[in-house]
Amino acid sequence: MHDLVITNARICDGLGSALRPGSLGVKDGRISALGEDVGSGRESFDAGGLVLAPGIVDTHTHYDAQITWDPSLNPSPALGVTTVVMGNCGFAIAPCRAADRDLTMRNLVRVEGMSLDAMHAGIQWRFESFPEYMDMIAESGVVPNLAAFVGHSAVRTYVLGDDAPRRQATVDEIAQMCAIVREAMDAGAIGFATSTSPSHNGASGEPMPSRLANDEELRALVGVLGEAERGIFMLTKGGGTSIPFLESLAAETSRPVMIAALLHNSTNPDGVFQELDQIRDARERGHKLYGQVSCCPLTMEFTLAAPYPLEGIAAWSPALTAAPGDLPGILADTGFRDSVEGDLSEPAPVRLFNGEWHKLRVLEVVKPENRCFEGHDVAELAAAEGKRPLDWMLDLALEENLRTTFVAVLLNSDDSAVAKLLTHPASAIALSDAGAHLSFFCDAGFGLHLLGYWVRERQVMSLEEGVRRLTSEPADIYGIRDRGRLSVGAHADLLLFDPQRVARGSSRRVFDLPAGAPRLTSDAIGVHGVWVNGTRVVDDNGVSSDGAGPGQRPGQLLREFAS
Ligand SMILES: [Zn+2]
Repeated sequence: MHDLVITNARICDGLGSALRPGSLGVKDGRISALGEDVGSGRESFDAGGLVLAPGIVDTHTHYDAQITWDPSLNPSPALGVTTVVMGNCGFAIAPCRAADRDLTMRNLVRVEGMSLDAMHAGIQWRFESFPEYMDMIAESGVVPNLAAFVGHSAVRTYVLGDDAPRRQATVDEIAQMCAIVREAMDAGAIGFATSTSPSHNGASGEPMPSRLANDEELRALVGVLGEAERGIFMLTKGGGTSIPFLESLAAETSRPVMIAALLHNSTNPDGVFQELDQIRDARERGHKLYGQVSCCPLTMEFTLAAPYPLEGIAAWSPALTAAPGDLPGILADTGFRDSVEGDLSEPAPVRLFNGEWHKLRVLEVVKPENRCFEGHDVAELAAAEGKRPLDWMLDLALEENLRTTFVAVLLNSDDSAVAKLLTHPASAIALSDAGAHLSFFCDAGFGLHLLGYWVRERQVMSLEEGVRRLTSEPADIYGIRDRGRLSVGAHADLLLFDPQRVARGSSRRVFDLPAGAPRLTSDAIGVHGVWVNGTRVVDDNGVSSDGAGPGQRPGQLLREFAS
């Protein structure tokens, strides 16, 4: 007898097969039967004709800090996600010496928009090494399944200390970093992650440590995966890192390379497609390169006190590195403003904000007399006063002590271009950044957005194909065994949803982080149940288990992967 039988479902197997009516049996956390009639179970559940699919596999998250205080990894499970991969871009919190904790947290404040108060109150530092960190997570348990990258910036900080964001590593230091990556791979890391992106800056405005690595350092660290004959190399790529260089790493190591973040930029509309075509060509030469794309427009809320979208502009650096007390003076300075304008007039392939002032709106003002600006774009408001948009925005922000909230629609806002990204043969769909940028946006519901918007409304792909792209495809690329599919013997990670309604709700601000810190979150629409390893973690109303009760942490810490 099965533990659980789900009847009256429309089965979408995650492998691309056509939907078919059927039932599914679960025993000991795995799928024990699949078909028209699977017999009886101790528990039975009528799916009411809804679609039963594998749970979503979210390969680009940043739950590294949150996992130490929140085993539920809220809000991902409620949004249909049953497996997450963290440590992306190399922003991990392990390994970490006690002396580097403060710097590690302050780096995450800037690069991932996490609250310092929340991290101070929330992070459990009961580890120093990566294996100790993994053991701590395994011991405390987790609601969804979880896999972790060993992160380059953490490893570099561990070996180079304060010099990590400042200089190249010596041969001896590279050898020490390789040893740590080897130890992490032995402890169950899913791979090695890094960033060379100029948007990624640390606490005091210095680059994140991984950005200081030269080709030799990257080659050595990725080489560890090659020697181990397992693990995926992921990076968020800056303009200085070429696809041919990454292909050479894939060729030398025979390891897959996941290249993020391939977003469409209207000011350089062909750039992302040229890179995807290069990736496709590399694939045709037998090298496993993938281009990570997003199905969401990149929208960010920010204030001028920490304007993430502007921090990748080279001329912004005096503001980036300023002490908070000096910042208003810099933002008021005409010379500073002129040089930022100068930079924006030069095209750059990998910048978040590219001077499209009509894509930048005033979201929330502080002073009542400024309320009339809310909802209007900066280009329009500046034109009305005969000012340059940059001057208008900075003047308003300074008048309100840098507390005005702006919202920028930065990249991926052209639907026809995004449709092309999603259907490109070299693309992999991810980039939720769940757990990060909490003050800027929430794309943890990217999978529901794909199914509701791109599949149902835009009909860019079939439902079966949309589900495949969110489940078996990522599981197979990352070597996550027996997940992302409905087949007998696979783990029972399940998502029940209504294809006529499925969507992600709009984002809203809540104050539920440690220390009452705020974050943006969003709710699921049309999700009627989520099961992890056969245990239900999201109910019919979309309410997710907080993992507090006994038996409510059914997720597995994944430590073994297919090579
Ligand atoms: Zn990331």
